[in-house]
Amino acid sequence: MSNATTFVVRSDPTLLADVRRYGRFDTSACYQCGSCTISCDLVTDYVSFPRRTIRYTLLGLRGPLLGSLEPWICHDCGDCSIICPRQAGPRLSMMTVRRFLTAQYDWTGISSKLLQSRVWYIGSLSFVALVVVALIFFYHLSYVGLPLADFVAMPFGMEHMFPIMTYFTLTVLLLPMFLLVSRIWRIWRLTMGGEGRVPIAFSAYVAEAWTYVRHSVTHSLMRKCPERGRWLGHWLLAAGTVLMLTIKLFGLRWFQTDSIYAFYHPQRWLGYIATAFILYGIGSIIVGRVRAQKEFYKETQFEDVIFPILLLLTALSGIAVHILRYAGFALSCHFAFALHVIIATPMLLVEMSFGKWSHMIYRPLALYFEAVKERSGQRTPAKEAAGYAL
Ligand code: SF4
Ligand code: SF4
Repeated sequence: MSNATTFVVRSDPTLLADVRRYGRFDTSACYQCGSCTISCDLVTDYVSFPRRTIRYTLLGLRGPLLGSLEPWICHDCGDCSIICPRQAGPRLSMMTVRRFLTAQYDWTGISSKLLQSRVWYIGSLSFVALVVVALIFFYHLSYVGLPLADFVAMPFGMEHMFPIMTYFTLTVLLLPMFLLVSRIWRIWRLTMGGEGRVPIAFSAYVAEAWTYVRHSVTHSLMRKCPERGRWLGHWLLAAGTVLMLTIKLFGLRWFQTDSIYAFYHPQRWLGYIATAFILYGIGSIIVGRVRAQKEFYKETQFEDVIFPILLLLTALSGIAVHILRYAGFALSCHFAFALHVIIATPMLLVEMSFGKWSHMIYRPLALYFEAVKERSGQRTPAKEAAGYAL
């Protein structure tokens, strides 16, 4: 008696057009030589890209593409595009698929709009910034009851905003985190659970939990990239951002007391370290994009240019607030803080919730889920080869 399993695979002719709405996916020149897969340092017995992802898309295999974790394991190094004899741009195809998947994971549908349209992207950032400006006016003129003339000229510091700024800051930080975490269930359903999949024992998830932590903290796969400086800049940017967000989440009370002037306070020095990390990381990205010599900085998406600029402006305005407050320039500090909030809020609410920042969660999650599959025996080289034969 045969124990062979019969798979019904339906081709969706609209998939390729759907994916192409999110960027460049031009594989018409590809003649399937396989050089890209051979050149990729991240290919293993279990994961094989970029060709499998590209084939899924070309063949209209929507289910396998949505269920694939491989686009997130690709670290965008560009070696495959350099070696491709037909200049088919497999790195860009992988990037486009990741943008497509980001939109599919987002149950609000907002990512889909932002990643397809510059008008939506810029419009959303501008809209949130205008709402913040309106809130600043409302708070001072209506809630505090300041006359308009005093609002622009009275030299008072930020203290009058405490503790309401705490609630505002926590909302702006926690809302994107809630949205990101809320998508994990959807990603799990698409890639690990759902109908027709063999259930995986809970113990496998527990046993591999360390994999998620390890990849979140070390970004170790990026170290395989021949360009070592890229890993350092990326790691410092991620570590600095996480450290700064942690300080904002748990250290606001200290920030809102006079002890901010205490030179020895550890939070001050953690803030300096986080700022230095962020500045180095953004600087390396901006310089790389301006020079555009490395493959991974060529043909970047519109948001990849705007995001580092917003992050840089957020960091610089935050530094200005700190210096002006420390120096006792109350009115200047007040305006610098308003500017800082006007820049940082749209970046956090739009970019972190719906844009590129999501890969901070999705990439280690994909590596974790792959490890769980491998541990539970759902991934074997033979099964992967069979999948590729599709
Ligand atoms: S190296 Fe280029 S031509 Fe060869 S399989 Fe990859 S994308 Fe196609
Ligand atoms: S961009 Fe780098 S990691 Fe991604 S498929 Fe190409 S060679 Fe592999």
